[in-house]
Amino acid sequence: MSKINTNAVTFIGERLCLNFTNTASWHNREQPIEQLVNYETLIYWSRQMEIITATQGKHLLEQAEISPIEAEKTLAHAIELREAMFRLFKAIATNQQVKPSDLAILNNYVNQAYSLVEIVPKDSGYAFTFQKGQQKMDCMLWPIVQSAVDLLLSEDLSRVKLCEGEPCGILFCDVSRNKSRRWCSMEDCGNRAKAQRHYNKKKIQKT
Ligand SMILES: [Zn+2]
Repeated sequence: MSKINTNAVTFIGERLCLNFTNTASWHNREQPIEQLVNYETLIYWSRQMEIITATQGKHLLEQAEISPIEAEKTLAHAIELREAMFRLFKAIATNQQVKPSDLAILNNYVNQAYSLVEIVPKDSGYAFTFQKGQQKMDCMLWPIVQSAVDLLLSEDLSRVKLCEGEPCGILFCDVSRNKSRRWCSMEDCGNRAKAQRHYNKKKIQKT
């Protein structure tokens, strides 16, 4: 199975929905680099996120071989959902107005997700599932939608940030106690900013 070559950033968003928006690199650039290049990579990412089981993944890949057009369609839907979520959470992170058209796209997927919801017995209690749709090729979209809904309705929404390294475009939920996280990672954009500051300081000293 082809792998997404961004393993290091896979979990950087701290929330499933934000990890999903980070499946395009340099997302804030005019032409980002797509990581979800085919349905296989969507399955691979979903396995990494543990939103589908290994058995489910195998079944979905078999399905994709039988119905490649359906697989393509699912990927297109996934990307449509991701892009709407990216614009929406980016707007929130940068105190911009969320576009009604982006909310409408999300709501369309929310409607589909909630038509599949079932409450099932689990351990000594109950669990919220999308069990009805779990054999379908787009089954990985519903937990992502659920994660976006949860985040939008939670107090953590004020912790959603866009990496300050432009045009990195990585979104994350800042879980640090004093809300001080600024970068996707210190090794990446954090370091670049540090190098830039150092360079600017030297330039000032020279002039
Ligand atoms: Zn970054």
